[in-house]
Amino acid sequence: MTKKIAVLAGDGIGPEIVAEAVKVLERLRGDGLDIELEDGLVGGAAYDVHGTPLPTETLDLAKASDAILLGAVGGYQWESLDISVRPEKGLLGLRAELELFSNLRPAILYKQLADASTLKPEVVAGLDIMIVRELTGGIYFGQPRGVRTLENGERQGFNTLVYSESEIERIGRSAFDIAMKRGKRICSVDKANVLECTELWREVMECVAKDYPEVELSHMYVDNAAMQLVRAPKQFDVMVTTNMFGDILSDCAAMLTGSIGMLPSASLNAGGKGMYEPIHGSAPDIAGQDIANPLATILSVAMMLRYSLDEAAMAERIEQAVEKVLDQGLRTADIYSDGMQKVGTSEMGDAVVTAL
Ligand code: NAD
Repeated sequence: MTKKIAVLAGDGIGPEIVAEAVKVLERLRGDGLDIELEDGLVGGAAYDVHGTPLPTETLDLAKASDAILLGAVGGYQWESLDISVRPEKGLLGLRAELELFSNLRPAILYKQLADASTLKPEVVAGLDIMIVRELTGGIYFGQPRGVRTLENGERQGFNTLVYSESEIERIGRSAFDIAMKRGKRICSVDKANVLECTELWREVMECVAKDYPEVELSHMYVDNAAMQLVRAPKQFDVMVTTNMFGDILSDCAAMLTGSIGMLPSASLNAGGKGMYEPIHGSAPDIAGQDIANPLATILSVAMMLRYSLDEAAMAERIEQAVEKVLDQGLRTADIYSDGMQKVGTSEMGDAVVTAL
């Protein structure tokens, strides 16, 4: 059956990098991938036309699609808008409306780029971690929250860390399913020695593990996990954790690779529908110059094929094509080093298509 992909390019470099990812999809369509693509507006681009960063037609398109390819949103010209209509609200709206609770953040360091990391090459070369972050619950959403004034007149800020068993179970299952497609090892990160909520997290993870006898589950406190990520990151395969811990650890892991232009991400719902996007933003400082790195977006397409379209072999082909262009010495400005061949956005996309 034909799979529908919503293409939401967004703002800044979004349209440039998404155009290269679409070239890759079109190439695979030529090889029998049964897909249809439909464009939609999101973020500042949508605000300029419709007065909202998430127009109804875009939401309807996203709901009717099997997967969403997103560029990035945001830019200087929308920064003074009321917070309710800022470009980022388009993304948050899509996550909430589609219940995209499972955020997949790989941290992969291609051996060709090992020098880009601030860590020693032997510590990070060949790094391949998948961080699974719970995205729609936890302390970022828990009630009650706010700032109140106490009887003595002092103000007090408060937030609530809350997870129900079902929320923990569904992110657990999502992580175990992913581990089954990878190295079959999961490290669940919590702070069970201090926070009752994550004591429950640990208990539920143990229950979920019973349904996945092939997967080895371990637990680690978040402070140790942060330390281990910079000390010996290659010990990890899949890490699963709460919204806030995942927010912090996934950025830390991303920086192990030294290059924001190379990392894809996915946000999935219970039905396997996903939104796929690079981890970087809309980079307004380099928009329209044909110098942005499109590889994170192209690798997001690989994730889409693996996790929403059940086309693992095609996903691998894309990943191998990216390796090949790196082997050929092609580099966009953000990953350029002496002796390599500097290329622009579209030239890099064309090279991946050729490698395919
Ligand atoms: P950013 O990720 O856009 O840029 C940070 C730096 O990395 C910039 O110097 C940029 O030029 C560079 N960079 C980013 N992607 C690159 C690529 N593919 N190739 C080469 N260089 C790249 O983060 P920022 O500057 O903090 O934010 C810019 C805008 O993006 C803001 O409006 C912000 O709100 C938005 N943003 C959007 C998302 C998203 O859409 N998911 C995420 C983060 C930030």
